[in-house]
Amino acid sequence: MELKYEKKDIYSSLNEKELEDVELFTNDYIKFLNNCKTEYLCVEEAIKILNENGFLDIKNVDKLTPGSKVYFVNKDKSLFVSVIGKDDLKEGVNIIGAHIDSPRLDLKPMPLYENRDVGLLKTQYYGGIKKYQWMSIPLAMHGVVYDENGNKIKISIGENEEEPCFTIADLLPHLAKDQMKANANEFIDPEKMSVLFGTIKDKEAKDSKVKTNILKILNAKYGIKEIDFARSEISFVPSFKAKYVGIDMSMIGGYGQDDRVCAYSTLRAMIDLAKENSDINKTIIAMIVDKEEIGSIGNTSMSTEAFDLFIDMLIKKTGKNDVNRLELYYNSKMLSADVSACVDPVFEEVSDVQNGNMLGCGVALEKYTGSGGKYNSSDANAKFVSTVMSIFEKNNVAYQMGTLGKIEKGGGGTIAYILANKGVDVIDCGTPVLAMHSPFEVTSKYDVYMTYRAYKAFFNN
Ligand code: MN
Ligand code: MN
Repeated sequence: MELKYEKKDIYSSLNEKELEDVELFTNDYIKFLNNCKTEYLCVEEAIKILNENGFLDIKNVDKLTPGSKVYFVNKDKSLFVSVIGKDDLKEGVNIIGAHIDSPRLDLKPMPLYENRDVGLLKTQYYGGIKKYQWMSIPLAMHGVVYDENGNKIKISIGENEEEPCFTIADLLPHLAKDQMKANANEFIDPEKMSVLFGTIKDKEAKDSKVKTNILKILNAKYGIKEIDFARSEISFVPSFKAKYVGIDMSMIGGYGQDDRVCAYSTLRAMIDLAKENSDINKTIIAMIVDKEEIGSIGNTSMSTEAFDLFIDMLIKKTGKNDVNRLELYYNSKMLSADVSACVDPVFEEVSDVQNGNMLGCGVALEKYTGSGGKYNSSDANAKFVSTVMSIFEKNNVAYQMGTLGKIEKGGGGTIAYILANKGVDVIDCGTPVLAMHSPFEVTSKYDVYMTYRAYKAFFNN
């Protein structure tokens, strides 16, 4: 009997077939990352994948029976998905919740201006970023605009080779003597994070010639006017593609892996489980939500009571009108599927290595997150931690117990507490990530694959 606990790398323990499965899964995952750089695009792509796999919009379904596969689209920015199981809903459901919003640069409501014959767009950063990482990199523009008649216009520029991209020009080092004296938090003034947008002058305009030309281009392309920026949600995100990283191709680099890695793994776990096992016991639910990076507040966030509405629909449409929603929550279990930090081999001083997550050693299970004295953490109880560990052990899921970093080096919250407050047993479980919140986050492809396996095993219990 092995008495000592040691973290082991996944690669060395996988057989030929599993190594092939890793490739197939991560190839698809990389495509998902490249197609889905905003929460709108994630929801669109998720609906496409769900439709292809026989899931139906719950609005169009009157009666749910074991095996029914449905989804609820919440204002185009979040999604609840479910496969109905045989057990009574009041005995609880298995939930996995992940978020699809990622740090980025949003446009201010009135963003367009011109200075020294250059057209620029004012931005405001979304989520926690190291601002300097977003300077002087190629950016793509994605979003939606609603015109005065409520028509939705989609904008997407900068992903294809033949399209232009955008950038925020950082100051050259030669003239950055003063800038370099400021601390890293201050040396990029967010009010100076303006996107280069154009330089050609309109010949007929008397003033603001560049701005006029830009507005003419936007009007010709999308039928919009300057005021329509106010009724838009447009974001700038890195335009480069997700790719394998390393001479051995063992890692994946890409924008938005926090938390699209968990969101994608959750959806695939649900879809594949429904295919493999047509009579699951517990009803399973995926919560694919927005706004985690800005505090999980609002009607498309993890906190939204639109989720209660979805649960009520499940209760009503399964004909189980006697089920009390609170009782359902109390008997349910959940993985808060969000990424965690890895011990960074060149910055290991911020981690308690013994309690840190190692790249390539499995999906991270975190009893608690938060900071300092476990502040703002829902701290899963030992009984539930044991339940989840046993599920993983029985299903050959490589997992590791971790914490985010040293106790007072910082910290981070998650969405675990939100459903825990309703009475659900919740624990954090997600992929370890290097360079989190940077434009190019890094994961181990073996950890990504194990995240998928972990979620499938959890759903199936
Ligand atoms: Mn996250
Ligand atoms: Mn995050």
